[in-house]
Amino acid sequence: MPYKKLIDGFRLFQEEYIHSEKGDYYKNLVEHGQKPDTLVIACSDSRIDPAILTHSDPGEFFAVRNVAALVPPYNNGGKLRGTSSAIEYGVRHLEVGHIVVLGHAGCGGVNALATDNYQVTNNHDFQFLRDWLNIGAQAKEQVFQRFECSSDAEKIRALEQATILVSIENLLSFPWIKDKCDREELQIHGWYFDMEEGQLLEYTPINSCFEKIGCSESGATFLKAKPDLDIFLENYTQSCPCHTKA
Ligand SMILES: [Zn+2]
Repeated sequence: MPYKKLIDGFRLFQEEYIHSEKGDYYKNLVEHGQKPDTLVIACSDSRIDPAILTHSDPGEFFAVRNVAALVPPYNNGGKLRGTSSAIEYGVRHLEVGHIVVLGHAGCGGVNALATDNYQVTNNHDFQFLRDWLNIGAQAKEQVFQRFECSSDAEKIRALEQATILVSIENLLSFPWIKDKCDREELQIHGWYFDMEEGQLLEYTPINSCFEKIGCSESGATFLKAKPDLDIFLENYTQSCPCHTKA
């Protein structure tokens, strides 16, 4: 998309949200501040904008986007913690009632983690990506062990979903998130956008798998306890084409 389209797009935004009857809606957000009920942690991928996917208006959710929608563990060392800071602000100041971790099919970040390909061009390696994506290293090991006979595409899809569970597990390592979940003031959801199918899947803890959103007959789709990656992968293995063929 040409850069100029962004500027033209802002003019359309002004017409719709500032100079039309919706202007009051925006004025209200400015005067009373934001009060979103949900924090969305999504991949930076240009194809999965959570506002567009959920048809949301400004002010409806607080967002943090990074490569592969990853959440680092609570005690991860280092001082510059952009993702953790946004989570802290959303949970402790805005007091959101929901956190959604939104991963997706065809994720370049997860692909780099899976294939160990961190080269930019001219044999230069990325400087930061490897360390960041290594948040999912343990999940990669588990996926690759279980899916030894599967195609690369099958392994990567399983890893895309497994890293959502890693992020959720890491969210629950933040003590004030765990406390709020225990007090039922906060619900954590795992979402997976399947771009090829145009479907949104959500993690269902009782079945330990991702199901079409809004279709779960098995109850709650939010997590209070850490998801069990082993059980998820066991279920996933059973439904994987290369295993069901056997
Ligand atoms: Zn991605």
